[in-house]
Amino acid sequence: MFDKNPRVLNEELIASYPKLDKNAKFKFHCHPGVECFNKCCNNVNIFLTPYDIARLRKALGITSSEFLAKYTILPIASNLRHPIVMLKMDDRTLDCPFLGENGCAVYQDRPWSCRMFPLGVASPNEAEKLNNGEEFYFLIKEDVCKGFEEDKEWTVDEWFDDQNLSEYQELGELFKEISLHKFFVTARAIEPVKLEMFYMVCYDIDKFRKFLFDSTFFKRFDVDDERKEKIRTDDAELIRFGFEWLRFSIFGEKLFNLRKDYLDLDKHKVK
Ligand code: SF4
Ligand code: SF4
Repeated sequence: MFDKNPRVLNEELIASYPKLDKNAKFKFHCHPGVECFNKCCNNVNIFLTPYDIARLRKALGITSSEFLAKYTILPIASNLRHPIVMLKMDDRTLDCPFLGENGCAVYQDRPWSCRMFPLGVASPNEAEKLNNGEEFYFLIKEDVCKGFEEDKEWTVDEWFDDQNLSEYQELGELFKEISLHKFFVTARAIEPVKLEMFYMVCYDIDKFRKFLFDSTFFKRFDVDDERKEKIRTDDAELIRFGFEWLRFSIFGEKLFNLRKDYLDLDKHKVK
């Protein structure tokens, strides 16, 4: 299996790769003329971030629930502390569902890990163990990939610009903080209702938006009108808000206050 995703590489392997910083140079060029064109989009591990799903479902004109049902799988493993979502390869050919004759059919909205390839990024744990806590990058060299034999040269920074990775970075970093939160390491057992909340907030974002606006949520919690409007129309803001909600509802961080008028109403009910 070809792995575009640095998160599934093991630490020993990462330790053996040269460490790259943002100014480090590497040679690579992927284009329709390479003999391996499209080969890396078969039988590949692609983990999806919340922003990947927001972009893909919008590009396809479907809801997040439809996207998740049709295009993803939820791997089950005893070491997984919260749900993760992967692209489902075609049952017969093992091709990525978005692979077309001319390459990636969702190229403008392709996932973060497809943009990053051939670069991998160390997780905070790996950076701590292998590079004194400094984030670093490395090249994922796969035999099938002939892009490394091409002459085009990049710095890591230039690659990020070329792949429009900055749009993905902020929300990716916030997602990393949520998914690697110490709660998931230290909690003895995590109630199913919390895991369902995690899944809805991180992946089924249209359902989360509906939950916010169709329930009494905004009557109960103090959220200013400007932000509420942004959450209604802007997927990135919805995702940011969702991460705050998970910090409050799962990790117990004091990020939300009940509205004063709701509290007063509640007092009256009690009387
Ligand atoms: S989303 Fe596009 S680039 Fe990524 S594996 Fe699928 S076809 Fe390839
Ligand atoms: S050069 Fe590498 S990334 Fe590009 S199509 Fe070939 S295998 Fe995939």
